[in-house]
This record gives sequence, structure tokens and C-alpha cells, in this order.
Amino acid sequence: MKTTYTCFPNGKFKALTMSYDDGNQTDRRLVAIFNRHGIKGAFHLNGGLLDRPGRIPREEIASLYAGHEVAAHTFTHPTISRCPLPMVAQEIIEDRKVLESLTGRPVRGLSYPNGSHSPEIRVMLPAMGIAYARVTGTSGDFQLPVDWHQWMATCHHNNRLMEHARVFAELSKWQYLSLMLVWGHGFEFDRDDNWDLIEEFCAFIGHRDDIWYATMIEITDYMEAAKRLHYAANGNFVFNPSALEVWIRTGEDIVALPPGELVMLQ
Ligand SMILES: [Zn+2]
Repeated sequence: MKTTYTCFPNGKFKALTMSYDDGNQTDRRLVAIFNRHGIKGAFHLNGGLLDRPGRIPREEIASLYAGHEVAAHTFTHPTISRCPLPMVAQEIIEDRKVLESLTGRPVRGLSYPNGSHSPEIRVMLPAMGIAYARVTGTSGDFQLPVDWHQWMATCHHNNRLMEHARVFAELSKWQYLSLMLVWGHGFEFDRDDNWDLIEEFCAFIGHRDDIWYATMIEITDYMEAAKRLHYAANGNFVFNPSALEVWIRTGEDIVALPPGELVMLQ
């Protein structure tokens, strides 16, 4: 039997994604940098704070973040592990409603405000339509999350970003799926006067043939679709029951599995 591996789209084994919180007006400059270098990210917004000074106004959200992901960050940014659970549920659902009314798309990602979460909150998330949630701790590595509701970034952008980027760029072991996730807040680049850092990073890591540039929810959904493949017991054929194209490597071959189709592998 041939060894079969899940790949990212087009047979790639590396993915890059970005995760930025709070939706401050500095996101305009950040999105422009990402767009110039073909990099995608999730922007985690508070539906109840959109009228605060310095935030991206609601009428600009759909156009500014087009091509990226608009994701939840709770309605008013409380430290949710200290809040009663019914309030936490409302914070997430109300945030989703506002953001969905502005974007016309389902909002299914979350980053925990102030990094705060608990086991009781995490178990509620699937029932509230939240497919993944990002924590504030970082891993320093390039592994896919084990628990999608405790998704840890590789690094904050102020934490040896270029060092991590160079290691990631050099990775050549296709036997592993590798993911680099960088998180932060757009306003930090103004505060720390280090826009040159994110410019340098995006210019270095963007537009590479061997990296899949995707949003967090795209990665979440893709891995879910990959998990749902129905393989024949002898590995000779596989059915893809999802609506997404999934890519695998079987032996030396990179194979695309179209949605809803049965593909012979021998
Ligand atoms: Zn925040």
C-alpha cells in the first residue's frame, strides 16, 4: 500500500496565516501590506465597540477586509473567564450578529479577548457556531493546532518574527504539514514605531510558490474536509464528500480530490 498524506491545496505542505485583533484604524495600513504581498489574515472585531474613536467604522468593514476573514472577538471585549456563562454566550452571539450583518458572511472564528478562556467556555463554542478560537500564548513552532479552540500562534510579531520566518521558509520536509501563524494588534506598529518589521516580514515570506496563504477559517475548514475523506480499505480509491477540493500525496503522486467525487488512486 502506498503511503498517503494530507496536503494543503496544490500539494503544498506549508501554510501561513495572520491573526490581528481589535480592528483599529491602523488595520488599513496593515491590510494594504498584506494585500501587496499576497498574505491573508483574520481580523477579530468587537461588534459593540465599532463606534469607539480609532476603530474601523462599520461601513468600512466589508470593503477593507475583503479577501481576509472577519472574525469574532466578543461584543465588548470582557475578560470572559470571569463572566457568567450566559453573558459569555451573548457576548459571542451578539458579536457574530453585528459582524455578519456588515459582511454578509458567516462569522465562525474567534480570538479570546485578553486571551481569557476556560474549559466551560470552550465546550460551548461549537454550539455557538465557533469553529476555532485563538489564544494569546505562543508555541514557537509550526504545528497545526491539536485543539482548534485553543489555537496557539507561532509568535507575536514582536517575538523574533524574522527568525521564525527564516526557519519556516527553510522547512523542506513534506512529510509534515507546517503552519506559521502570527498574531498581534495593528495599533502596536504605531505604538512601537516598527512598521518596517511587518513590511520586511511580508516582503520576505509573501508570494512564495511553496506556501499556501489562507485565512484561519479557510485552514480550519480545509483540515475538516481532509478529515472527512472516505478511503477504501485497501487505499485504491477515495471519496470526497465535502464541498471543498482536497489534496493528498499518495506515493510520489500529488492528487486533487474534487468535491463530491470518487477518485481512483491506483
Ligand atoms: Zn483584543
